[in-house]
Amino acid sequence: MSRRKQARRSASRKRGCGSSPSSSPSFEVDRRDFVKIGIGALASLGLGETILLAPGETAAAETKPVQQVAPKTPHDYARAKRTPSVCLNCSTVCGIVGYVIDGRVVKLAGNPADPNNGQTICAKGQSGVSINVYPERLVYPLRRVGRRGEGLWKRVGWDEAYAELAERIGKCLGEGVPEQVAIHYGRSRISDVIERFMNAIGSPVILNHRALCSLNKRAANYASIGDADWETVDAERTKYLLNFGSNFYEAHQGHIHFLKRVIRGRFDNGAKLVTFDVRLSNTAGRSDEWLAPFPGTEGAVALAMARTMIDAGEFDAEFLTKWTNYRPDQLKRFLKPYTPAWAERTSGVAARDIERIALEFARCRPACAAFTNRGSHAHYNGLNNDRAVILLNALAGSIGQPGGYCYGEGERIDPLHFPPPEPSPPKLKTRTDLEDPPEYPLANLWQKMKVGELAYDYLQRKRALLQVYLTYTLGSPTTWPEGRSLAVAVLKDERLIPFHACSDVVYSETAHYADLILPDATYLERWGLDTRNSYEFRPYVALRQPLTPPPAECVSFADVLIQVARRLGGDAAKYFSFEDHEEYVRHQCRNVPPGDCADGFEYLKKHGVWIDPRRPLSRGAFARPLTRAQLEDAKTDDATGVISRAGANGKAEPIGVWVDGQALQGFKTPSRKFEILSSTVAEQSAKVGVEDDGLPHYVPVPAHENLPADRFVLTTFKWNVHTQARTAPQKYLSEIVHDNPLWINAATARRLGIRSGDLVEVTTYRPKGNTYRATGEKLGSARIRAFVTEGIHPRVLAASNSLGQLFGGRAATATNGPRSAGPGYDEQLVAEDPELESLVWWDRREHGRGAGYNLNAILPIQPAPVTGMQCWFDTVCSVRKV
Ligand code: SF4
Repeated sequence: MSRRKQARRSASRKRGCGSSPSSSPSFEVDRRDFVKIGIGALASLGLGETILLAPGETAAAETKPVQQVAPKTPHDYARAKRTPSVCLNCSTVCGIVGYVIDGRVVKLAGNPADPNNGQTICAKGQSGVSINVYPERLVYPLRRVGRRGEGLWKRVGWDEAYAELAERIGKCLGEGVPEQVAIHYGRSRISDVIERFMNAIGSPVILNHRALCSLNKRAANYASIGDADWETVDAERTKYLLNFGSNFYEAHQGHIHFLKRVIRGRFDNGAKLVTFDVRLSNTAGRSDEWLAPFPGTEGAVALAMARTMIDAGEFDAEFLTKWTNYRPDQLKRFLKPYTPAWAERTSGVAARDIERIALEFARCRPACAAFTNRGSHAHYNGLNNDRAVILLNALAGSIGQPGGYCYGEGERIDPLHFPPPEPSPPKLKTRTDLEDPPEYPLANLWQKMKVGELAYDYLQRKRALLQVYLTYTLGSPTTWPEGRSLAVAVLKDERLIPFHACSDVVYSETAHYADLILPDATYLERWGLDTRNSYEFRPYVALRQPLTPPPAECVSFADVLIQVARRLGGDAAKYFSFEDHEEYVRHQCRNVPPGDCADGFEYLKKHGVWIDPRRPLSRGAFARPLTRAQLEDAKTDDATGVISRAGANGKAEPIGVWVDGQALQGFKTPSRKFEILSSTVAEQSAKVGVEDDGLPHYVPVPAHENLPADRFVLTTFKWNVHTQARTAPQKYLSEIVHDNPLWINAATARRLGIRSGDLVEVTTYRPKGNTYRATGEKLGSARIRAFVTEGIHPRVLAASNSLGQLFGGRAATATNGPRSAGPGYDEQLVAEDPELESLVWWDRREHGRGAGYNLNAILPIQPAPVTGMQCWFDTVCSVRKV
């Protein structure tokens, strides 16, 4: 028998193929087998030995009764070494302090020096203690030896891995096709090193996940105020919060940062919170009022509110006249069709509520803010939905005001203040369709947001060729629309992706389809500078530093790139002459004042955060006067009042605007005003044949028009303890939430004869309108348990994401039992966790609910016109009781 057949047969026996999930297959693993089986066997794999990993491979051989675990002894925190760093269990990047005893992280708490979160961190943040010692993490490089996706692996050394990476990338460079090397990452926070590497080798093909996350929101902010990928609402001082589709009590770019200030604003300052959401989220449930519009109609509600404010004279005429590029009389004409009665017919929200809330909001001006998140913008019309909501802040004159809609500046690690080591490679001027698709001109105009959900389609249709595909913290098969079909089909196809190297902490679904697996360091074991928009309105920088060194042979991806660049030699190597990522970061900190330490790097290592006290508060920066030096050699456009100066490239660049005889900084839009009318949006839309006059009109979602009574809109959401593919392997988090039934409105369920706990079948359909494969035809079906509730719009179904994983270990896949039935473990590398052996009580074989469902598999790819944002919440579906 061939080794491969032997391995497959062994694995089938081990999984008990053909038996029910609750059966207890028994078998013997032949210890003389060359091929080892199971995640646990990874820890003892010798160089050159092979291993088989396949879906469900972490399943226990036998059902074991839940065992009692010995009571834990409290840690003696007085003995702990305390090191500040930065959390990355979600994108909020809170400052943390790690407590390390005997080389193990035993506790994580908030870093009081962090201006945003201070001492507060969430459950996900605290769960970080389980990450470094995860018994099923990858501990050395693995090379594929079977067919791709078959799960057969051989342990290799780093020298072999680096040599292969350098050889394959070097081949592309030698053939003059550097763009056939791509790096595709999820949430990385090392994009500066990634960009440096790609600039050094001459490839522009860096793919990210922004189009699956926040593209429309960011685009709306840039179109309106020309700045700030994310607003910074001054929630602590506000009187009124108008929330369109943000579940910030659970998940948000500034989850803890924003939430703690909202709570203070509400309970110390008497602020009112009104939430529009199709579902009674934990944010909606904690609001003063929850209203459920039909999905994608948030823009209609906002425009009707704007009209109400204008009609009632409850708006800031001075701000509108001085600081926007559209006069009040023009705005009144634009808003005329958007009556509250029309909005009621469109959204289902009562006209009297729209009017009442609009006036309540307006009468709190300027200490009021209307804001959004994915609920309003992950739609076909999301760009205009969000622009309409931001407009409410302009009408209230709350932009940049205490308690108002604010935004920060300098929210990135600015290379001027944090210089990378020299020489730096020049920025590339080349582009390809893969990372810069011409059909979506707003995707990359203001920020590199790409259109990631289309990447696999472009590869399949050969609109782009790749030889080397490097993935880093990317969960595309699990977390992307059509992930288990299109993404997996392309990842498996060696003609489309001849070589795939995947850096990850655990054996993920992406790693399963790699050729080379690179064991990554966790965010608690690596370096980096980080920052977020400051809710105290003064830019800051935080240092991510290792609390403990990476175990076994784990290496952070930044260090992998440094090593590969060195091996490539020539131009690539010359930009990577520093020792490692630590030295790179040390160099970046050289302008940070030393304070009470030897230098800026040591200061950040000790305190974790540096805030530049000389920087003025960023709130209301648009009204800041230009300095005498800024005005030197500046020119004014008499027609518009826009002030320009020659930039570094000699071209005139707007730097401000004259307002009331004062030269002020203004907004970073072409007019330096808040742009109600965006010529940029109009021009870019025209390029791709989309009619748009630049005003934030309400555009219906084509797939939702005339929706038959038996069709619904399927949406997904995040719980506070999960972050897409990242958290399911963490036992404390999966213990709290491991099940994601389908929410169905009680009246709808009655009509369909569905009760909580029933198994239902959901069938999804492709979109309609000006988007990808807009055929309206059936896409796929999934069976899922029903949860009947009053807390959802009657035409909407919803299930959480982040669950239903095929890999990631016992906590993620809900498989109680030993790490492996294979050969013994090497406890020196990563010790077994007795809790994972015996306390995964949500295992179906223990009568638990299992690991949940992955509905992304049946969600269609649907990029919004012009921007390319994935329209997560537009999917039309039907449902029936099985
Ligand atoms: S909000 Fe995010 S970054 Fe902050 S502690 Fe929680 S998981 Fe970590």
